[in-house]
Amino acid sequence: MSDIKKALFAESKNKQIYMDYSASTPMLVGALEAMIPFLKENYGNPSSTHSFGNTSRSAVENARRLINQRVTGGDGSIFFTSGGTESNNWIIKGIVSKYKISNIITSRLEHHSILEPTSSLKKHAAVKVHYVKLHKNGSINYDDLNSLLKNNPNSLVSLMHGNNEIGNLTDLPYIGDICKKHGAIFHSDTIATIPYYPINLKNLNIDICSASSHKFYGPKGSGFIALRKGLEISPLLHGGEQERSLRGGTENVAGIVGMSYAFNWVQENVESHYKEVFLLKQKFIQELKKVNINIIFNGQCRDMGKSIPNLINITIPKANKETLLLGLDMGGLSTSHGSACMSGVNKNSHVIQTLYPKQEGGVLRLSFGVNTTEDEVKQTCEIIKKVSK
Ligand code: PMP
Repeated sequence: MSDIKKALFAESKNKQIYMDYSASTPMLVGALEAMIPFLKENYGNPSSTHSFGNTSRSAVENARRLINQRVTGGDGSIFFTSGGTESNNWIIKGIVSKYKISNIITSRLEHHSILEPTSSLKKHAAVKVHYVKLHKNGSINYDDLNSLLKNNPNSLVSLMHGNNEIGNLTDLPYIGDICKKHGAIFHSDTIATIPYYPINLKNLNIDICSASSHKFYGPKGSGFIALRKGLEISPLLHGGEQERSLRGGTENVAGIVGMSYAFNWVQENVESHYKEVFLLKQKFIQELKKVNINIIFNGQCRDMGKSIPNLINITIPKANKETLLLGLDMGGLSTSHGSACMSGVNKNSHVIQTLYPKQEGGVLRLSFGVNTTEDEVKQTCEIIKKVSK
């Protein structure tokens, strides 16, 4: 990767190799610069009617317009949130309530921010939850999805675009057709795919998507949901008229501005990002093979056409799962074994447990991005070799 590319990102003093882009990405310098005036001199509340307020409100509405144009073609709606977890919670609860949904159809490989609100509704509301059958590699069994939809009218389907742990890609346009046939509302968590695929509800054939800014080179604590034209959602936060009275509370103006900058930058450059990161992943797989230790590739991550380009999920059967990450960290590599949201919990990833309940050894989710170098990939493989012995 060129020095120019490196210069686009806020520099870190940490000299470790960073292989955890799926947990959070570095931030674009442009996003940071766009935010600074809203952390310094433009401190007005967007709801205030004076000039300070107008400056903030214009920035928020401009960000909304830019994102809406790309994601819905301008005729849908964008609501700002605090990130992916809130976006997913709001969609599940808000759509179920608005449309008196009787059935939620999802998969056991979804992020916890889908699985847990879904389970909670099962306990507290009159909603049935159905988990679609999966093939051995984690891909969705379309026949089962079809029959679930046939037998369960008035459904909300929630299936992620790219799995943030094993990388499996979902064929959204295909599933969108099945949902349309049965009159179901179709949400997709697009959080892992935004840097690499054009995100447009019409082209993806989905009704709703969710986004989290810190997964696409923007600031943490900022996200959005996008709804296609005509779709509505019940309120999340009461007590203010912000976000059309659906999510009260003063807007995170700087976060929204930084997110909008990053979203436009990644989407503008989506093809070149995809190519660069795709080539890096090919190289990574070659280098991992050269390391010459027993490695199992999980899910579909080795199938370049069926997985997102920025992550590889492997199991090293001989490695000690308790000490592997610590050993790698001490060896100079920052990586993870799955979703960062559950890393404080002393449990295997629910994705790996669902697919491979009997698997032994240490699991690694190695995730990278447009700022990762080939040299870092090579060094990563060397560190893994050393630590796994
Ligand atoms: N969905 C997916 C696919 C994710 O990877 C994450 C973050 N691990 C989330 C939702 C939650 O996003 P956030 O960290 O912004 O709450």
